[in-house]
Amino acid sequence: MELDVLKEEKFLQLILNSIPIYVFWKDKNSIFLGCNKNLATYAGLESPDEIIGKSDYDLPWSKKESDFFRKVDKSVMDSGEAQINIEEPITINDKTTRWIRTNKVPLFDDKNQVIGILGTYEDITSKKEMELKLIEQSKELKVKNENLQESNFKLEQVNIDLEQFAYAASHDLQEPLKNIGGFVDLLDKKYAPLLDEDGIQCLEYIKEGATRMSSFIQGILSYSRLEESIDGLEKVDFNNIISSCLKDLEKAVKDSNTQLKINLPLTEIECQSNRIGMLFYNLINNGIKFNKSATPIIKVDFQEKDNHWLFHVMDNGIGIKDVDSENIFKPFKRLNNRGKFPGNGIGLSICKRIVHIHGGEIWYSSNELGGTSFHFTIQKSI
Ligand code: ADP
Repeated sequence: MELDVLKEEKFLQLILNSIPIYVFWKDKNSIFLGCNKNLATYAGLESPDEIIGKSDYDLPWSKKESDFFRKVDKSVMDSGEAQINIEEPITINDKTTRWIRTNKVPLFDDKNQVIGILGTYEDITSKKEMELKLIEQSKELKVKNENLQESNFKLEQVNIDLEQFAYAASHDLQEPLKNIGGFVDLLDKKYAPLLDEDGIQCLEYIKEGATRMSSFIQGILSYSRLEESIDGLEKVDFNNIISSCLKDLEKAVKDSNTQLKINLPLTEIECQSNRIGMLFYNLINNGIKFNKSATPIIKVDFQEKDNHWLFHVMDNGIGIKDVDSENIFKPFKRLNNRGKFPGNGIGLSICKRIVHIHGGEIWYSSNELGGTSFHFTIQKSI
């Protein structure tokens, strides 16, 4: 029998020494009655037996920490209620600080009287350090985010100012430009017979320059007028939008002998109809303009998706070889010889803005007709 008890005690000790946490038990005066091997090592003791009879003040933690441990012991024993998951730092031998998570449970005798306390704790230093690092990082992130928001706001303000400046400057430039045009016409009519060939050539250059400048100014004006607001949304039939856009393109279509194949949804959409008309106009007009085929073909088609419409404007024109696909959507970016293809390089940047206002994206690809397809999306509800 005695042998069995001894065996049982050894077995219990084996279990206590094997669990990967620190275990101790104390009497009612917070004097250690025992501990497992892990705790003995943690406290710098040779064996668990050495802890018997010692108090926290005899172990390598500071007085302040020992005071705290005993305060918790007392409150657990006085109340008879366990305290679980107490997280606190502990300094060993005044050197290393570790974080521990402690559980303290009161021990009762047969008469339900508290006779001591059982404590377990685990070292959570690495977890705690990670947690503190994370808190630190999220604080830094918050500050960075606030700075970013502030810069964004400033940038938006600068953008607005810049656009207002571009609008005002182009508006004011129109007047003197009109004067230049008027006087060049006068010069042409009245004094051309007095000029030699070089003089007449110079006059032509001035005229061309003035026309191009006027087209640029018009471009800047229409681009800066296009504020990114979603005001003026209305429900309109797609086919109404396209038919008024085709009216404006009638001459270009006829002169170039273009074949138009248009397939659009037979439904109303919520949009800024004038701007969507301008978008189709620019893309179809480009398809006609950048086209050397005897019979230019423009196909307009669509696909209905869950939350948006996807449109395609395809042509059999000269194609686009630009490797940077975002380039041509920038204001004034043109890829071709300006003598061959008239324009001011603003059309596609306007298209991009209109599409963004409608919550969509625009991009292009080459197509099976040998030309370019422009694709864009429009959100069903903005
Ligand atoms: P613009 O038509 O006045 O030149 P855009 O902004 O509309 O200005 O177009 C920018 C450039 O993109 C054009 O100059 C042209 O080089 C290229 N581009 C646009 N559409 C097409 C197209 N359908 N086919 C080939 N090139 C195109």
